[in-house]
Order: sequence, then C-alpha cells, then structure tokens
Amino acid sequence: MKEQKAQEQPVVVQGAMSVETAELIGAMTETAEEPWGPWRIVRGRLFGHPLVISETQWGMANAAALAAIAIERYHPAALISQGTAGAHDDALNVYDIVLGAQTVNESAWQSHYRPAGAGAPYDDLKKLGVFAWDAEKGEFTQEVEHAADAGLLAAARRAVPRYTRGKVVEGVIGTCDSWNCAIDRVKFLRTFYGSLCEEMEGDAVAQICQSLGVPFLTIRIISNSILHNQDPWDLGTGPACQGFVMEVLKEWWARGEA
Ligand code: SAH
Repeated sequence: MKEQKAQEQPVVVQGAMSVETAELIGAMTETAEEPWGPWRIVRGRLFGHPLVISETQWGMANAAALAAIAIERYHPAALISQGTAGAHDDALNVYDIVLGAQTVNESAWQSHYRPAGAGAPYDDLKKLGVFAWDAEKGEFTQEVEHAADAGLLAAARRAVPRYTRGKVVEGVIGTCDSWNCAIDRVKFLRTFYGSLCEEMEGDAVAQICQSLGVPFLTIRIISNSILHNQDPWDLGTGPACQGFVMEVLKEWWARGEA
C-alpha cells in the first residue's frame, strides 16, 4: 500500500526560466497547465511517471513560495531545484554540472562591529545560517548548510556516466539573490562558504523541503564563469541540465525511494 502511494506521488522539478523548464515539459505526456497565480505549473508524466514542472522565475522568495504551494498541492515524493549557475571554483567550466550535496544561503551573515568611518569590507563576516525544522531535535534550528536527500543524491550519482557535455562534481551550492562579478568576491565566497557555484534558488527551497520532510536535491549546470571570462552566460546550458535531470529521474524511479 505504501509502495503504491509512493508510485503515485509526483516528483516536482523547479526551474527559474522557460529555458530551464521547456525541455522537460516538451518530453512529458498527458500535460495539464495548473498555474498558481501568474506562475506556470505543468503536471504530466515522464517515462510514465507523474511529474510536476514549476517555473519559478528568478530568486529565493519565488522558489520558496512555489515549493510550499507544490508540497501542499501535490504531496510530492521528492523535489528538485535545477538550472543554471555561475562558477565559484576555477576547476569548473561552462556545461559542467554540480550536484548540491549541501546548499548554503550566502546572504545569511552578520558583519563584525566597526565604528562610523571604518568602512564595511565584504569579507569581515560571521556565518549565521537560516532556520529550518530539525525533525530529530523537534525544533527549528539555524543551520549554515542544508544537506541533500541521500536517495536523490545516489540516483544523481548513478546518472553521471551518461552525461557527456562536461564533468559532474559534488559539493556545496551557494544561494543568494545576487550575481557576483567581482573576482575577489567570488574567491572569498569559494573560501568562506566552500561553494562550487552560485545561483538564486536552491537553499531557499532546501529550507522549506527540510521543514516539511520532502526529499530535496539541487542540480546546477555552469552557465557562466567570471573566473574564465565565460560571461555572459551560455543559455544552451539550460536544456543540457534538463537532459541530465531526466536521467536522474529515470534512476530515481527505477529504485523507488531507496
Ligand atoms: N542579472 C543577471 C541575470 C541573473 S539570472 C544578468 O542579467 O546578467 C539569474 C538566474 O540564473 C537565477 O535563476 C540563478 O539561479 C541563475 N544564475 C546563473 N548564473 C548565476 C550567477 N552567476 N549568479 C547568480 N545566479 C545565477
């Protein structure tokens, strides 16, 4: 009975822009448009399994609100935030993919005290973290990093050999409603938070999924790297990322939630 229910619960996949969702929607059957306010949500099937695609637009508040409404509406078995990101690690190039074993909110910091006139250097910070529900402790706890779901991460690992457009690495993905182009700041974020890349949605969604007990993973493709002069971004990366996400879903559905 439980297995049957898990089979029917959809996976929700978020992407911020149409270039980050169109490939998935195009591959689906039995599609139905089920918008929430002005946001596009499409329900359907992929490889025969129930899937919901949610186009969030950019940013943390949008992605978190869409995650909450999708969880309330569809009771998903899992939620994936995917799309483009800018590199923090100089080993990464456009079309490489990062699996977010952890996500971190890179706007959750406190600056150290400085008197008037002493300036406000961007690197004189203490990490704060953000609040999410900790089921074991039974309370909201402030955490700097949120861990990905082990089952989703394992499925993503199994899909890696089928990705041919670049390499796939694992690590910390940084989230913030900002776009960093100053190389020294990117290097600071890489060192301070350990982030491999930056985007504007992942950790905000991780917070909601953790609090509501929904398995979550962020998957990001490098669309730009200020470290390699690969800026502005390459939007061909959006479809490439969705192709990989389809392989991850295939793996995840093949083994259930194990
Ligand atoms: N303001 C930029 C575009 C921002 S795009 C410009 O016009 O040049 C932001 C979207 O792409 C977000 O959904 C985010 O998740 C992703 N993204 C891609 N590269 C990014 C980067 N280097 N920094 C932040 N977000 C990035």
